[in-house]
Amino acid sequence: MFTKSVLSSVFALLLFSSCVTWANQSETSKQGPIAIALHGGAGTLSPQQFTPELKAQYYAKLSEALEAGYRILQTGADGQDAVVAAIMILENSPLFNAGVGAVYTFDAEHELDASIMHGKTREAGAIAGVKHIKNPILAAQAVMNHSVHVMLSGDGAETFAEQFAIERVDNTHFNTERRLQSLHKAKARIKRQASLNYQHPEKFGTVGVVVLDQLGNLVAGTSTGGMTAKRFGRIGDSPIIGAGTFADNASCAVSATGHGEYFIRYQVASDICKRMTYQNLSLAEAADEVINRVLVDAGGDGGIVAVDAQGNVAMPFNTTGMYRASIDANGVKTVAIFE
Ligand code: ASP
Repeated sequence: MFTKSVLSSVFALLLFSSCVTWANQSETSKQGPIAIALHGGAGTLSPQQFTPELKAQYYAKLSEALEAGYRILQTGADGQDAVVAAIMILENSPLFNAGVGAVYTFDAEHELDASIMHGKTREAGAIAGVKHIKNPILAAQAVMNHSVHVMLSGDGAETFAEQFAIERVDNTHFNTERRLQSLHKAKARIKRQASLNYQHPEKFGTVGVVVLDQLGNLVAGTSTGGMTAKRFGRIGDSPIIGAGTFADNASCAVSATGHGEYFIRYQVASDICKRMTYQNLSLAEAADEVINRVLVDAGGDGGIVAVDAQGNVAMPFNTTGMYRASIDANGVKTVAIFE
């Protein structure tokens, strides 16, 4: 009798502990891998341009944004929180062509574009040509989460953003001496070429972040001042879903930087994800094919950061450098500018 009751207690205990283990495992299996990758623009960069101090500044800011995003992913939050937080850090830094430090238009102003896409719902939000929104990515997120539209532009986008108490600033808030000098140089070249079609394609400082969150969501976001000396209300690829930004939980999340007109015409961000779906390519293969073959053949300069559902990261570029950083699903951290 005694033995029987001890045995049944032991059995109950074993059953209980195996249930606990199973429950823990199923809880753990909900917490999938996390990964993040970001860029701060690509272009004709050479190591000689960088003093050790300047290089250290870039590395520090890229790391700060990366780690801020990663910490948010570690809490189990939705990936969009990590994307927005990391992009805001880059927008608030004068080192990049987004927010403070945005390039100047031909008329010596700043017109900002941003977008975000959530790979679970395929919802997306974008704003284009805004002049007073301190952190354009916040307005893009508000469009995604609180509007029936995908893209708002100009004054209308600013009015929309006001409803969500998104901070507004004077356009001069985005001024930097360095970008003003770039405008002067670009205008001198425009004068020499006597062309309305001049573009200043050597350097691209757009910022973008892609993540895989613990629930398996892929999210991508991009923010930019566009291209130096742009005019006539020119909008690039960054706020265009499928061109500069794309996310789909079934394949990948991509954010691009480069000569926007090519990224629009070649639908770069979505092309990479679609190649994974339709051609069964890995993320690295699909990204390499689009950036280093399709775009190179077309003459389009730039690069992308991308992450897939397993937390693999790809960061190819066809220029001499791209400011970039990542932490993949194995926790491997990279911060780099050149090859
Ligand atoms: N892709 C952006 C644009 O064309 C520029 C950049 O990447 O810096 O507006």
